[in-house]
Amino acid sequence: MGKVAVAFAAAAVVAACSVAAVMVRRRVKSRRKWRSVVEILKELEEGCDTPVGRLRQVVDAMAVEMHAGLASEGGSKLKMLLTFVHELPKGTEKGTYYALHLGGTYFRILRVHLGGERSYLDVQDVERHPIPSHLMNSTSEVLFNFLAFSLERFIEKEGDGSSSQGVKRELAFTFSFPVKHSSISSGVLIKWTKGFEISEMVGRDIAECLQVALNTRGLDMHVAALVNDTVGALSLGYYHDPDTVVAVVFGTGSNACYLERTDAIIKSQGLLTTSGSMVVNMEWGNFWSSHLPRTSYDIDLDAESSNSNDMGFEKMIAGMYLGDIVRRVILRMSQESDIFGPSSSLLSEPYVLRTNLVSAMHEDDTPELQEVARILKDLGVSEVPLKVRKLVVKVCDVVTRRAGRLAAAGIAGILKKIGRDGSGGITSGRSRSETQMQRRTVVAVEGGLYMNYTMFREYMEEALVEILGEEVSQYVVVKAMEDGSSIGSALLVASSQ
Ligand code: ADP
Ligand code: MG
Repeated sequence: MGKVAVAFAAAAVVAACSVAAVMVRRRVKSRRKWRSVVEILKELEEGCDTPVGRLRQVVDAMAVEMHAGLASEGGSKLKMLLTFVHELPKGTEKGTYYALHLGGTYFRILRVHLGGERSYLDVQDVERHPIPSHLMNSTSEVLFNFLAFSLERFIEKEGDGSSSQGVKRELAFTFSFPVKHSSISSGVLIKWTKGFEISEMVGRDIAECLQVALNTRGLDMHVAALVNDTVGALSLGYYHDPDTVVAVVFGTGSNACYLERTDAIIKSQGLLTTSGSMVVNMEWGNFWSSHLPRTSYDIDLDAESSNSNDMGFEKMIAGMYLGDIVRRVILRMSQESDIFGPSSSLLSEPYVLRTNLVSAMHEDDTPELQEVARILKDLGVSEVPLKVRKLVVKVCDVVTRRAGRLAAAGIAGILKKIGRDGSGGITSGRSRSETQMQRRTVVAVEGGLYMNYTMFREYMEEALVEILGEEVSQYVVVKAMEDGSSIGSALLVASSQ
């Protein structure tokens, strides 16, 4: 071989080596990046861990906070609000009633016709629309005019026959925000939640605001009850099954109510009801305990929300927030590695990943996770390999599993407070008789998250059995109540006539 040829051969070897070196370096780098993403996932899993021991601590904390909230005004982050509902619908109600429900995302209007027997409940003309987003931070006048206008259109479509001429229509106003009641049909707004911000409404009577708007439009309707959505769900549950004593909503937000003995409501001593009990609206979204597993994503979400330091439990378990926790994790992964390709500015946008998309990704059963790929593409992240798509599914799973399990702990906390968890309750002097331990207890549940997200529902129900144990669980029945908040509120008006 001549000198020139040798030089060429040597150069080729050097070039090949350096190409190989670059490739190895790239592979090492990409492996390191993958490892950093796996590390983020591991950290998330540890941060969201909910072994049954921890759940039991949350159960105890919930029961303790319930006692504190009932003992004195401001005694707990749980407001434990009086509802002035002491009789629930029995099934013998008759007549036609209306409900208007302002939720966190949707408003609904419906009419029910009751024939005097439980089996004769006819739910007619259910209308459900997203709340136009501009209303959430408008003025009370704009909001209530819109609601009155929507009711007017609903009634116009009825034609004749739904309500006898000249008879005032009785309306339930289902309102999914915290209210301090002075009677079943009046109460003032304590604060907004779920992204609503109409500050001049705080402290004003919500039922009166609606009645004024209805009168202004000349609508012959009477706001006969102002009902928290959970109380509506409890009413429908009780109507069908009188063992129903607890109701929980998992929708945009989350909240619970239950039937309490009036003598246990110490902050309102002397409160007399014919039944000896009253429904208490817990406003459990604001529950907090140091036992709740909190991650840096929760802390950032809270800090950047319009109601920071508030609604800590809701921000871990409700539909409005689960998607945003998942988004924050994916965003961090995309910032610390390039596994999601060039960083997408869309991913930085708060609440862009909605919880219905999380459930669609989580429950994607196509072999190549095509649904995950499609949703990520809509977020500006395209062409991610299958292993990255699997990672995203895992993130959805971790966040939703924590939510479902904490939700179960919340429910078990209520059962503990009322002595239906098999432990005899935490109040001294409560009897631990066999009959009390084994009393059938129905928990009515509703809300878009619960109704539509199978994995959330399964994690919740599985954890409830884990906490209560197989034996006690046999006596605890969780019943889904579709549209329970709205239908039940109308039933409540019927039973209070
Ligand atoms: P509102 O909170 O207005 O009363 P819903 O009870 O219907 O309304 O709850 C709506 C919320 O439920 C949505 O904002 C979303 O967070 C959640 N949700 C709805 N559909 C799904 C779904 N398929 N998967 C997961 N969450 C869902
Ligand atoms: Mg709702």
